[in-house]
Amino acid sequence: MAKGPDEIIRDEIRALAAYHVPDSGGMVKLDAMENPYLLPHGVRERIAKLVSDAEINRYPDAGAARLKSRLRGVLRIPEGVELLLGNGSDEIIQMLTLAVARPGATVLGVEPAFVMFRLIASFCGLRFVGVPLREDFSLDPERIAAAIDEHQPALIFIAYPNNPTGNLFDAAAIDAVIANAPGLVVIDEAYHAFAERTYIHKLREHPNLLVMRTLSKSGFAGLRLGFLAGADPWLKHIDKVRLPYNVGVLTQLVAEEAFQHQGLLDEQASAIKAERTRLYAALEREPRTTPFPSDANFILFKTASAQATFDGLKRQGVLVKNLHGSHPALEGCLRVTVGTPDENDRFLEALHEALA
Ligand SMILES: *Cc1c(COP(=O)(O)O)cnc(C)c1O
Repeated sequence: MAKGPDEIIRDEIRALAAYHVPDSGGMVKLDAMENPYLLPHGVRERIAKLVSDAEINRYPDAGAARLKSRLRGVLRIPEGVELLLGNGSDEIIQMLTLAVARPGATVLGVEPAFVMFRLIASFCGLRFVGVPLREDFSLDPERIAAAIDEHQPALIFIAYPNNPTGNLFDAAAIDAVIANAPGLVVIDEAYHAFAERTYIHKLREHPNLLVMRTLSKSGFAGLRLGFLAGADPWLKHIDKVRLPYNVGVLTQLVAEEAFQHQGLLDEQASAIKAERTRLYAALEREPRTTPFPSDANFILFKTASAQATFDGLKRQGVLVKNLHGSHPALEGCLRVTVGTPDENDRFLEALHEALA
Protein backbone atom coordinates (compact mmCIF):
# COMPACT_ATOMS: atom_id res chain seq x y z
CA MET A 1 0.00 0.00 0.00
CA ALA A 2 1.21 3.50 -0.81
CA LYS A 3 2.40 5.61 2.08
CA GLY A 4 0.70 8.87 3.06
CA PRO A 5 2.15 12.36 3.65
CA ASP A 6 3.02 11.54 7.27
CA GLU A 7 5.57 9.03 6.09
CA ILE A 8 6.71 10.62 2.85
CA ILE A 9 6.85 14.38 3.55
CA ARG A 10 9.90 15.36 5.65
CA ASP A 11 9.20 15.88 9.38
CA GLU A 12 10.55 19.44 9.39
CA ILE A 13 8.30 20.38 6.46
CA ARG A 14 5.16 18.88 8.04
CA ALA A 15 6.00 20.79 11.22
CA LEU A 16 6.02 24.15 9.41
CA ALA A 17 3.06 26.49 9.27
CA ALA A 18 2.47 27.61 5.66
CA TYR A 19 3.59 31.19 4.96
CA HIS A 20 0.34 33.08 5.31
CA VAL A 21 -0.50 35.94 2.96
CA PRO A 22 -3.71 37.64 4.15
CA ASP A 23 -6.48 38.72 1.76
CA SER A 24 -6.08 42.46 1.28
CA GLY A 25 -8.83 43.18 -1.26
CA GLY A 26 -10.20 46.71 -0.79
CA MET A 27 -7.91 47.46 2.16
CA VAL A 28 -5.39 50.23 2.75
CA LYS A 29 -2.49 47.84 2.34
CA LEU A 30 0.27 48.68 4.79
CA ASP A 31 1.43 45.17 5.66
CA ALA A 32 4.12 44.22 3.13
CA MET A 33 6.55 47.16 2.67
CA GLU A 34 5.41 47.87 -0.87
CA ASN A 35 6.06 51.25 -2.49
CA PRO A 36 2.61 52.92 -2.71
CA TYR A 37 3.46 54.79 -5.92
CA LEU A 38 3.25 53.67 -9.54
CA LEU A 39 5.59 55.12 -12.15
CA PRO A 40 4.30 58.16 -14.10
CA HIS A 41 1.97 57.49 -17.01
CA GLY A 42 4.58 58.14 -19.73
CA VAL A 43 6.96 55.55 -18.32
CA ARG A 44 4.16 53.03 -17.95
CA GLU A 45 3.25 53.59 -21.62
CA ARG A 46 6.83 52.80 -22.59
CA ILE A 47 6.70 49.65 -20.48
CA ALA A 48 3.43 48.68 -22.20
CA LYS A 49 5.12 49.01 -25.57
CA LEU A 50 8.10 46.93 -24.44
CA VAL A 51 5.76 44.24 -23.17
CA SER A 52 3.67 44.20 -26.34
CA ASP A 53 6.79 43.73 -28.49
CA ALA A 54 8.42 41.20 -26.17
CA GLU A 55 9.28 37.77 -27.56
CA ILE A 56 7.51 35.78 -24.92
CA ASN A 57 7.52 32.78 -27.24
CA ARG A 58 11.28 32.57 -26.55
CA TYR A 59 13.09 31.62 -23.38
CA PRO A 60 14.65 34.61 -21.62
CA ASP A 61 18.37 35.43 -21.87
CA ALA A 62 19.55 32.97 -19.21
CA GLY A 63 22.46 35.21 -18.23
CA ALA A 64 20.41 38.45 -18.42
CA ALA A 65 23.49 40.16 -19.88
CA ARG A 66 21.85 43.49 -20.82
CA LEU A 67 20.03 43.86 -17.52
CA LYS A 68 23.18 43.03 -15.56
CA SER A 69 25.25 45.54 -17.49
CA ARG A 70 22.64 48.25 -16.83
CA LEU A 71 22.58 47.32 -13.15
CA ARG A 72 26.36 47.57 -12.95
CA GLY A 73 26.23 51.11 -14.30
CA VAL A 74 23.34 52.35 -12.18
CA LEU A 75 24.66 50.84 -8.95
CA ARG A 76 28.32 51.58 -9.70
CA ILE A 77 29.31 47.97 -9.07
CA PRO A 78 33.10 47.93 -8.71
CA GLU A 79 35.35 46.10 -11.20
CA GLY A 80 35.94 42.50 -10.13
CA VAL A 81 32.54 42.20 -8.44
CA GLU A 82 30.05 39.87 -10.15
CA LEU A 83 26.24 39.83 -10.11
CA LEU A 84 23.71 37.01 -9.83
CA LEU A 85 19.99 37.63 -10.38
CA GLY A 86 17.06 35.98 -8.62
CA ASN A 87 13.30 35.81 -8.87
CA GLY A 88 13.14 38.15 -5.88
CA SER A 89 15.80 38.00 -3.20
CA ASP A 90 13.89 35.18 -1.52
CA GLU A 91 15.06 32.97 -4.36
CA ILE A 92 18.64 34.12 -3.81
CA ILE A 93 18.41 33.21 -0.12
CA GLN A 94 17.29 29.78 -1.29
CA MET A 95 20.17 29.44 -3.80
CA LEU A 96 22.73 30.44 -1.18
CA THR A 97 21.33 28.03 1.37
CA LEU A 98 21.09 25.14 -1.11
CA ALA A 99 24.67 25.72 -2.25
CA VAL A 100 26.05 25.31 1.30
CA ALA A 101 23.61 22.55 2.37
CA ARG A 102 26.10 19.91 3.43
CA PRO A 103 24.67 17.51 6.01
CA GLY A 104 25.21 19.13 9.40
CA ALA A 105 25.90 22.65 8.06
CA THR A 106 24.56 25.63 10.00
CA VAL A 107 23.01 28.92 8.91
CA LEU A 108 23.25 31.75 11.44
CA GLY A 109 21.23 34.93 11.76
CA VAL A 110 19.99 37.28 14.45
CA GLU A 111 16.47 37.33 15.84
CA PRO A 112 14.02 38.92 15.46
CA ALA A 113 14.84 39.27 11.77
CA PHE A 114 13.50 38.33 8.35
CA VAL A 115 11.74 34.97 8.77
CA MET A 116 12.77 33.57 5.38
CA PHE A 117 16.37 33.02 6.58
CA ARG A 118 15.15 30.47 9.12
CA LEU A 119 12.38 29.03 6.92
CA ILE A 120 14.61 28.42 3.91
CA ALA A 121 17.30 26.82 6.10
CA SER A 122 14.59 24.43 7.20
CA PHE A 123 13.46 23.78 3.58
CA CYS A 124 17.04 22.80 2.77
CA GLY A 125 17.39 20.54 5.81
CA LEU A 126 19.89 22.82 7.58
CA ARG A 127 20.11 23.92 11.18
CA PHE A 128 19.40 27.60 11.83
CA VAL A 129 20.89 29.39 14.83
CA GLY A 130 19.15 32.68 15.69
CA VAL A 131 21.24 34.88 17.98
CA PRO A 132 18.99 37.22 20.01
CA LEU A 133 19.38 40.95 19.45
CA ARG A 134 19.68 43.17 22.51
CA GLU A 135 16.53 44.72 23.93
CA ASP A 136 17.06 47.87 21.80
CA PHE A 137 17.41 45.60 18.71
CA SER A 138 21.13 46.27 18.36
CA LEU A 139 23.65 43.50 17.59
CA ASP A 140 25.24 41.86 20.59
CA PRO A 141 28.86 41.40 19.39
CA GLU A 142 29.96 39.07 22.22
CA ARG A 143 26.96 36.82 21.84
CA ILE A 144 27.38 36.59 18.07
CA ALA A 145 31.12 35.92 18.38
CA ALA A 146 30.37 33.11 20.86
CA ALA A 147 27.68 31.62 18.56
CA ILE A 148 30.00 31.78 15.54
CA ASP A 149 32.71 30.09 17.56
CA GLU A 150 30.37 27.34 18.74
CA HIS A 151 28.42 26.64 15.53
CA GLN A 152 30.93 27.50 12.77
CA PRO A 153 28.15 28.62 10.38
CA ALA A 154 28.64 28.12 6.64
CA LEU A 155 26.38 31.10 6.01
CA ILE A 156 25.43 34.19 8.04
CA PHE A 157 22.54 36.51 7.08
CA ILE A 158 22.31 40.09 8.32
CA ALA A 159 19.57 42.40 7.07
CA TYR A 160 20.74 46.04 6.98
CA PRO A 161 18.38 47.75 7.86
CA ASN A 162 16.79 44.86 9.72
CA ASN A 163 13.20 43.69 9.19
CA PRO A 164 10.94 43.84 11.24
CA THR A 165 12.83 46.16 13.60
CA GLY A 166 13.75 48.82 11.00
CA ASN A 167 17.18 49.74 12.43
CA LEU A 168 20.64 49.77 10.89
CA PHE A 169 23.13 47.79 12.95
CA ASP A 170 26.37 49.31 14.15
CA ALA A 171 28.96 49.10 11.38
CA ALA A 172 31.80 48.09 13.72
CA ALA A 173 29.67 45.19 15.05
CA ILE A 174 28.99 44.00 11.48
CA ASP A 175 32.69 44.30 10.61
CA ALA A 176 33.45 42.05 13.59
CA VAL A 177 30.94 39.45 12.31
CA ILE A 178 32.59 39.54 8.88
CA ALA A 179 36.05 39.17 10.45
CA ASN A 180 34.98 36.27 12.71
CA ALA A 181 32.93 34.33 10.15
CA PRO A 182 34.38 31.00 9.02
CA GLY A 183 32.18 31.08 5.88
CA LEU A 184 29.99 33.49 3.94
CA VAL A 185 28.38 36.65 5.31
CA VAL A 186 25.43 38.01 3.33
CA ILE A 187 24.34 41.59 3.99
CA ASP A 188 20.69 41.85 2.90
CA GLU A 189 20.10 45.44 1.79
CA ALA A 190 16.41 45.06 0.90
CA TYR A 191 15.71 48.54 2.35
CA HIS A 192 18.70 50.28 0.84
CA ALA A 193 16.55 52.90 -0.93
CA PHE A 194 15.47 54.28 2.45
CA ALA A 195 18.75 53.99 4.36
CA GLU A 196 21.43 54.82 1.77
CA ARG A 197 24.08 52.86 3.62
CA THR A 198 25.70 49.98 1.82
CA TYR A 199 28.38 47.32 2.00
CA ILE A 200 28.81 47.17 -1.78
CA HIS A 201 32.03 49.21 -1.68
CA LYS A 202 33.41 46.84 1.01
CA LEU A 203 33.05 43.76 -1.20
CA ARG A 204 36.63 43.89 -2.42
CA GLU A 205 37.99 44.31 1.10
CA HIS A 206 36.30 41.16 2.40
CA PRO A 207 36.44 38.07 0.15
CA ASN A 208 33.77 36.24 2.23
CA LEU A 209 31.22 39.07 1.97
CA LEU A 210 28.18 39.13 -0.36
CA VAL A 211 25.59 41.91 -0.71
CA MET A 212 21.98 41.20 -1.66
CA ARG A 213 19.32 43.66 -2.81
CA THR A 214 15.81 43.56 -4.20
CA LEU A 215 13.60 45.86 -6.26
CA SER A 216 10.57 44.80 -4.22
CA LYS A 217 10.59 47.56 -1.60
CA SER A 218 11.27 50.36 -4.03
CA GLY A 219 8.40 50.01 -6.48
CA PHE A 220 8.57 46.59 -8.13
CA ALA A 221 7.32 43.97 -5.70
CA GLY A 222 5.23 42.49 -8.51
CA LEU A 223 8.18 42.15 -10.85
CA ARG A 224 10.20 39.72 -8.68
CA LEU A 225 13.81 40.73 -9.09
CA GLY A 226 16.64 40.54 -6.61
CA PHE A 227 20.39 40.43 -7.05
CA LEU A 228 23.50 39.28 -5.27
CA ALA A 229 26.87 41.02 -5.65
CA GLY A 230 30.17 39.43 -4.73
CA ALA A 231 33.39 37.79 -5.81
CA ASP A 232 33.35 35.39 -8.75
CA PRO A 233 34.89 32.40 -6.88
CA TRP A 234 31.69 32.30 -4.75
CA LEU A 235 29.12 33.42 -7.31
CA LYS A 236 30.19 30.98 -10.01
CA HIS A 237 29.20 28.09 -7.74
CA ILE A 238 26.01 29.63 -6.39
CA ASP A 239 24.98 30.28 -9.99
CA LYS A 240 24.95 26.53 -10.65
CA VAL A 241 22.05 26.15 -8.20
CA ARG A 242 20.07 28.81 -10.07
CA LEU A 243 17.36 27.39 -12.34
CA PRO A 244 18.31 28.39 -15.90
CA TYR A 245 15.44 30.77 -16.72
CA ASN A 246 14.65 32.12 -13.26
CA VAL A 247 14.23 35.74 -14.42
CA GLY A 248 11.57 35.98 -17.13
CA VAL A 249 11.54 37.95 -20.37
CA LEU A 250 9.08 40.54 -19.04
CA THR A 251 10.93 41.04 -15.76
CA GLN A 252 14.21 41.62 -17.61
CA LEU A 253 12.66 44.14 -20.02
CA VAL A 254 10.73 46.08 -17.40
CA ALA A 255 13.67 46.19 -14.99
CA GLU A 256 15.99 47.48 -17.74
CA GLU A 257 13.50 50.28 -18.38
CA ALA A 258 12.98 50.96 -14.67
CA PHE A 259 16.70 51.53 -14.12
CA GLN A 260 16.58 54.34 -16.68
CA HIS A 261 14.41 56.27 -14.23
CA GLN A 262 16.51 56.18 -11.10
CA GLY A 263 15.70 59.87 -10.51
CA LEU A 264 11.97 59.12 -10.27
CA LEU A 265 12.59 56.22 -7.93
CA ASP A 266 14.78 58.43 -5.74
CA GLU A 267 11.99 61.02 -5.58
CA GLN A 268 9.52 58.36 -4.49
CA ALA A 269 11.94 57.13 -1.82
CA SER A 270 12.35 60.73 -0.58
CA ALA A 271 8.59 61.17 -0.33
CA ILE A 272 8.36 57.92 1.64
CA LYS A 273 11.15 59.00 3.98
CA ALA A 274 9.43 62.34 4.63
CA GLU A 275 6.22 60.46 5.47
CA ARG A 276 8.19 58.07 7.70
CA THR A 277 9.30 61.07 9.78
CA ARG A 278 5.72 62.34 10.05
CA LEU A 279 4.30 58.90 10.90
CA TYR A 280 6.98 58.29 13.52
CA ALA A 281 6.24 61.63 15.18
CA ALA A 282 2.51 60.85 15.25
CA LEU A 283 3.12 57.42 16.79
CA GLU A 284 5.40 59.03 19.36
CA ARG A 285 2.77 61.65 20.25
CA GLU A 286 0.11 58.96 20.67
CA PRO A 287 0.29 57.96 24.36
CA ARG A 288 -0.72 54.34 23.74
CA THR A 289 1.93 53.50 21.13
CA THR A 290 5.73 53.38 21.30
CA PRO A 291 7.46 53.44 17.89
CA PHE A 292 11.00 52.20 17.25
CA PRO A 293 13.26 54.39 15.07
CA SER A 294 13.42 53.20 11.46
CA ASP A 295 15.78 53.52 8.51
CA ALA A 296 13.41 51.50 6.31
CA ASN A 297 9.97 52.12 4.75
CA PHE A 298 8.07 50.76 7.75
CA ILE A 299 7.77 51.45 11.45
CA LEU A 300 7.57 48.87 14.23
CA PHE A 301 5.52 50.02 17.20
CA LYS A 302 4.35 48.59 20.50
CA THR A 303 0.83 48.74 21.91
CA ALA A 304 -0.81 47.31 25.03
CA SER A 305 -2.78 44.82 22.93
CA ALA A 306 -1.47 44.09 19.46
CA GLN A 307 -4.29 41.71 18.47
CA ALA A 308 -7.08 44.11 19.51
CA THR A 309 -5.35 47.01 17.73
CA PHE A 310 -4.74 44.90 14.62
CA ASP A 311 -8.39 43.77 14.58
CA GLY A 312 -9.63 47.32 15.16
CA LEU A 313 -7.54 48.60 12.25
CA LYS A 314 -8.71 45.76 10.02
CA ARG A 315 -12.37 46.45 10.78
CA GLN A 316 -11.74 49.98 9.50
CA GLY A 317 -10.13 48.71 6.32
CA VAL A 318 -6.45 49.14 7.23
CA LEU A 319 -4.12 46.15 7.00
CA VAL A 320 -0.84 46.14 8.97
CA LYS A 321 1.32 43.25 10.20
CA ASN A 322 0.78 41.77 13.64
CA LEU A 323 4.10 40.50 14.97
CA HIS A 324 2.90 39.65 18.45
CA GLY A 325 3.67 36.01 19.16
CA SER A 326 6.31 35.67 16.44
CA HIS A 327 9.22 36.36 18.84
CA PRO A 328 9.37 37.26 22.58
CA ALA A 329 11.08 40.60 21.79
CA LEU A 330 8.10 41.57 19.59
CA GLU A 331 5.47 41.27 22.28
CA GLY A 332 2.67 43.78 21.60
CA CYS A 333 4.27 44.85 18.32
CA LEU A 334 2.67 45.82 15.02
CA ARG A 335 4.51 46.87 11.86
CA VAL A 336 3.11 49.50 9.54
CA THR A 337 4.44 50.20 6.05
CA VAL A 338 4.82 53.88 5.18
CA GLY A 339 2.20 54.64 2.52
CA THR A 340 1.05 57.78 0.70
CA PRO A 341 0.20 60.80 2.88
CA ASP A 342 -3.48 59.93 2.45
CA GLU A 343 -3.01 56.28 3.39
CA ASN A 344 -0.97 57.26 6.43
CA ASP A 345 -3.70 59.66 7.54
CA ARG A 346 -6.27 56.91 7.20
CA PHE A 347 -4.05 54.60 9.23
CA LEU A 348 -3.57 57.21 11.97
CA GLU A 349 -7.31 57.94 12.20
CA ALA A 350 -8.15 54.24 12.30
CA LEU A 351 -5.43 53.67 14.90
CA HIS A 352 -6.81 56.40 17.10
CA GLU A 353 -10.23 54.76 16.90
CA ALA A 354 -8.85 51.24 17.46
CA LEU A 355 -7.00 52.33 20.60
CA ALA A 356 -9.95 54.27 22.06
C1 LIG B 1 11.17 41.84 1.76
C2 LIG B 1 12.49 41.30 2.11
C3 LIG B 1 13.18 40.41 1.27
C4 LIG B 1 12.52 39.70 0.11
O1 LIG B 1 12.33 40.40 -0.98
P1 LIG B 1 11.90 39.79 -2.39
O2 LIG B 1 12.93 40.31 -3.28
O3 LIG B 1 10.55 40.34 -2.61
O4 LIG B 1 11.91 38.29 -2.33
C5 LIG B 1 14.46 40.03 1.60
N1 LIG B 1 15.02 40.46 2.73
C6 LIG B 1 14.40 41.28 3.59
C7 LIG B 1 15.08 41.72 4.83
C8 LIG B 1 13.11 41.71 3.30
O5 LIG B 1 12.46 42.48 4.19
